[in-house]
Formats: sequence, C-alpha cells, structure tokens
Amino acid sequence: MNPWDADAPEAAPPSRPNAAGLDREGLKALFQSFGEPAFRVQQVFEGLYRQRHGDWSAFTTLSKTLRARLEAEVDLAWPEIAESVPSQDGSTKHAFRLADGRMVEGVHMPYEDRTTLCLSSQVGCAMGCTFCATGRMGIVRNLGAAEIVGQVVAMLRAHAHPEGRPVNLVFMGMGEPLHNLDQLMAAFAILTDASGLAIPPRRITVSTSGLVSGIARLGTCASRPRLALSLNATTDEARSRIMPVNRVWNLEALSQALAAFPLQSGERITVEYVLLKGVTDSLEDGRRLAAFASRFPSKVNLIPFNPHEGAGFEPPEEARIGALMGLLVEHRIPVSVRRSRGQDVAGACGQLVREGRSRTVG
Ligand code: SAH
Ligand code: SF4
Repeated sequence: MNPWDADAPEAAPPSRPNAAGLDREGLKALFQSFGEPAFRVQQVFEGLYRQRHGDWSAFTTLSKTLRARLEAEVDLAWPEIAESVPSQDGSTKHAFRLADGRMVEGVHMPYEDRTTLCLSSQVGCAMGCTFCATGRMGIVRNLGAAEIVGQVVAMLRAHAHPEGRPVNLVFMGMGEPLHNLDQLMAAFAILTDASGLAIPPRRITVSTSGLVSGIARLGTCASRPRLALSLNATTDEARSRIMPVNRVWNLEALSQALAAFPLQSGERITVEYVLLKGVTDSLEDGRRLAAFASRFPSKVNLIPFNPHEGAGFEPPEEARIGALMGLLVEHRIPVSVRRSRGQDVAGACGQLVREGRSRTVG
C-alpha cells in the first residue's frame, strides 16, 4: 500500500444541517424529515444552484411557513469569503473560511468570453511536491462535495456572475483532486446538473500530479471532467526528486495509464510542465517532453515557475521558454505558456498556501 491509497481525513459533521452544497439526495432526506412533498427538492435545488440565493427569504416559491421553519432549523451558509485580493490582471484571489475554521483558496479569472474559476480540492496536500507551496503544508483534510461546490457558488455570487456567461472550472488550487475522488465526483454531479449551475463536463478540468490509481478510476466514470497531468520532469530520477508520487508510479506507469485513458473524439489530455531553471528546462527535457506527450492525444502547457519564499527554485530564462515551445511545435504538439494570473497577489499556481509555515510572496 502506498501513502496515497489511504483517504485523507474528512471534516467533522456540522452541528446544524446546512443546505448550501447539498445534492438532491441530501435535500430529499432533509425535506422528508420535514414531512414535505418530494417536489420541494427541485425547487430548492434550483434556488441554491441556478439562482444561488444566500438566504431562505429569497426562496419565494416556498410558503412563508416553510421559509420560517427553514430559517429556524437549517443553515444556508456558503463558504465565507474571509479575504479577497484583486490582482492587476483582473483576477481575484479569494480565501474561504470553512465551517471548521480551516482556510482554502480559489481564484476568479475573468476572460473576454468566459470566467475561469480555480478551485481547491483539499486543505493542504499529501503529495509533497518540493516546488509547491501547498505541498509544503502537508495534508490537513479533504474538502467535502458541498465545500467544493460552495467555492464555485461563493465566487459567482461575489462577482455577480451574469446569467449565461460560460464558466470553466479548473481543479488547480490547493490539493490533489484524485486523492479526494469520491467527493470530487459528488461535486461534479451537482456542478453539471442542468437544473442548477449546468456547467458542461468539458468545461471542467482536473489536474493531477499522477496518481495512477485515481486516473484509472476516473477513466471508468461515464460522465467525467477533462484530465490534466502535471508532468514537470522528464526522467524518473528528476521527477522522483521533485514529485514523490513518481517513486510509486514512474513515468512508464504514468504514460501507460494516460494512453489507456478513454478520450472522446477530439479530446486531449493537457500535460502541464513547470519549468524550473537548471532542473527541468534543458533542451533534452524538451525532447523527452515531446516524446512523452506523443504517446497519447495531448497538448502541453508550459508553466514558468512561480517563486515563493524558501522554494529553492528559479523561473527559467525567457529565451529558454521560446526554445522549448519551438521544439514542441516541431513535434506537432499544441503548446501554450501559462502566464499565471494573480502572481502579484500570490494567487498563481503553486503559490496557494494557508496555515503553512510562511505566507507566500508574489
Ligand atoms: N495537485 C494538482 C493540482 C493543483 S497544482 C496537481 O499537482 O496537478 C496545479 C498546478 O500548479 C500543477 O500543474 C503544479 O505542477 C503547478 N505548480 C505547483 N507549484 C507551482 C509553482 N510554484 N509554480 C508554477 N506552477 C506550480
Ligand atoms: Fe499537491 Fe499539486 Fe502541489 Fe504537488 S503540485 S504538492 S500534487 S498541490
């Protein structure tokens, strides 16, 4: 057994029920206990996820008596936004305070034709990647499905998200989503439900450090998000040094799992590649990266390292980024560079940390 087969701890159950983030089953149980008819579930589901109400008085499809009872007995508490830090590039980093006082972070990134939300899946992370601020915190606990959905609703509410504007979700905040796959898939069912947020599965991307057992399990799900893999190094020696998960599932095991992952027509796996100067950014790395990414339908996303305090790595030279891009293009692999948003407010990839040893610097 490897350390990541064991589930991370869960939050203690709340003392009072909280409707925010419940799925249909949860709402059914709640309204059954109230002796209410089954159609309440649909009304409340729509109120929670389509209208995204913040208090019971807004549920005008319900009788006054029922609203009063709900107000008295059931919380409607989305994750509290404890702090919001806008970046010069238009994105905003939000710190959410959860019911047990733990904090996670999410980032709201508006683009011309869509809004992308970067979400956390765990408090901390068990994977221990050496270049990542979250990894240095260790794992505190899994987020529940309600907390995952709650980040989305809280950010859409905070930014008065206009009806009809497309939303993309990326699980690239704190945590390893495939180490919390049960709650992730429960959240996915709520997020994609046509009566609520109605986010199409193809607009949701889960990024993994390469938990092969989780990749295989995700591949068996009938409806699932898109997959991104954080490759970050091209030899087992280098990858095992910066990503301990590689000591359990090496590059060969990983590429086999990705090649076996059932893709829809036109779908590609995103290969994320963090460029660490002098560690993972040589031209040989570029050639091996191209070879790895050619083994399955893919596109490569190069991510210049985002510095944070005490990390001990440096971002690559600009010229090297260009050279690596050229190499991938030569191999006919679609490639982009992630100019991480929110860098000035430490909201960029791998800079998200809470309750860690130190605050990150942007
Ligand atoms: N745990 C998942 C998702 C969260 S990390 C994963 O590892 O894929 C999201 C992305 O940020 C990953 O591709 C990770 O490699 C990258 N990342 C982590 N720390 C970084 C840093 N300091 N600079 C740039 N990218 C970083
Ligand atoms: Fe966890 Fe991803 Fe950071 Fe690795 S890069 S420690 S998997 S959050």
